[in-house]
Amino acid sequence: MNRESFAAGERLVSPAYVRQGCEARRSHEHLIRLLLEKGKCPEDGWDESTQELFLQELAIMDSNNFLGNCGVGEREGRVASSLVARRHYRFIHGIGRSGDIAAVQPKAAGSSLLNKITNSLVLDIIKLAGVQTVANCFVVPMATGMSLTLCFLTLRHKRPRAKYILWPRIDQKSCFKSMVTAGFEPVVIENVRDGDELRTDLSAVEAAIQELGPDHVLCIHSTTSCFAPRVPDRLEELAVMCARYDIPHIVNNAYGMQASKCMHLIQQGARVGRIDAFVQSLDKNFMVPVGGAIIAGFNDAFIQEISKMYPGRASASPSLDVLITLLSLGSNGYKRLLKERKEMFSYLSSKLKKLSEAFSERLLHTPHNPISLAMTLQTLDEHQDKAVTQLGSMLFTRQVSGARVVPLGAVQTVSGHTFRGFMSHADDYPCAYLNAAAAIGMQAQEVDLFIKRLDKCLKAVQKEQNKASPVPQASWGDGAEEADIGEVAGNPENVLCDTCQDAS
Ligand SMILES: *Cc1c(COP(=O)(O)O)cnc(C)c1O
Repeated sequence: MNRESFAAGERLVSPAYVRQGCEARRSHEHLIRLLLEKGKCPEDGWDESTQELFLQELAIMDSNNFLGNCGVGEREGRVASSLVARRHYRFIHGIGRSGDIAAVQPKAAGSSLLNKITNSLVLDIIKLAGVQTVANCFVVPMATGMSLTLCFLTLRHKRPRAKYILWPRIDQKSCFKSMVTAGFEPVVIENVRDGDELRTDLSAVEAAIQELGPDHVLCIHSTTSCFAPRVPDRLEELAVMCARYDIPHIVNNAYGMQASKCMHLIQQGARVGRIDAFVQSLDKNFMVPVGGAIIAGFNDAFIQEISKMYPGRASASPSLDVLITLLSLGSNGYKRLLKERKEMFSYLSSKLKKLSEAFSERLLHTPHNPISLAMTLQTLDEHQDKAVTQLGSMLFTRQVSGARVVPLGAVQTVSGHTFRGFMSHADDYPCAYLNAAAAIGMQAQEVDLFIKRLDKCLKAVQKEQNKASPVPQASWGDGAEEADIGEVAGNPENVLCDTCQDAS
């Protein structure tokens, strides 16, 4: 309501009360004004009523919500279902214009403002999370793999002779496909083993540059966040190499924004060498539904170029989700989540260490990986990886998601390239293992439940092995929450899934 409306209200209700109500409204509006003026994430999260007021104010700036709108075009933001309209807070026009995802849409001033303010808040959060010198970023309504593809396609015009992308191996299919889909030939650089860790083979990267010729290399595609025992790539050294040979550098930081170590690596890489863009997933770092990513970089012009590569308009949903999330959390709320995640990582690490020792296994020593852990499965007869995959299916049946068992010697062909030892980031990692990760939002009780269920599954598998029977006949004993694993026992192969295959 504006001043005239309040004045009219004073004829119906005591002016003193109306004035107080008007003041109350002004305090919500004050927060909105600060947000728009500063373009920064508020420190303290907003009340839902302020968020709804803000979203409503933005939505009524869009032409589909004009009271007198007369649409005669081919896209007028008409929506058949009111449920769909509400699901999107009546933002129907999406973001961007044909030809630039960052451009202002004349039919939708509110959506355009939403898009700009979201990108500005996200930039603020990237700095807060550890990359202080980031110059620009934008939210793109595609997941990480496709967003990497967009970066490679943008580089294509700048490097017409380039055919290859140098890629320190990480066994995640979307990373590999992001390069193939963009029309480039990935050159797989095998990792080197350093203790238990798998690390970037810098001399192999350099040898590949020299052999292929720097002009024929589109970029180095490195990775921060990954499953242990692989650890984040040696970004500083790679960045220096990129600067020396004048080769672009794109970093896959899929779930690295939540880990200060990954963010620090990116900051350092940019400080001492060259990083052109780093890409991170929205769902993995901000606890929102799948569908978006952030493309960020240190050169404003290059990031704008990428946004101009995007053909056409785009969904505003990922931007809206992350905007609402950041306004509800505030920067303090996000910082708290980051801190809790770190604590949860230590907690999971100590619990898993204890459990592994109880089963004569070992927590792999991977100090450079800040998110993912790996515990050996040596005592399960690893040369016949049956027990290992059986453990995976048992965990899956017991509703443990995200834990991933990695048997030895899996062979997998992805887009024509055959990987030996697939899932383990190496041709011949010496032992089978199990991964678990402490990701943002994880709770201590989830760790406890995981450890409890893993303990039971390991006991059951071990018991079976001692009996040398091909089929586990586990008794799950206590607890009403315990699921029956009869189906696993009957046919373990049938329930192989995420847990035993490639996670996400
Ligand atoms: C999640 C993830 C990706 C990309 O997956 P999308 O489904 O495209 O978001 C790429 N690399 C790594 C390491 C990942 O964890």
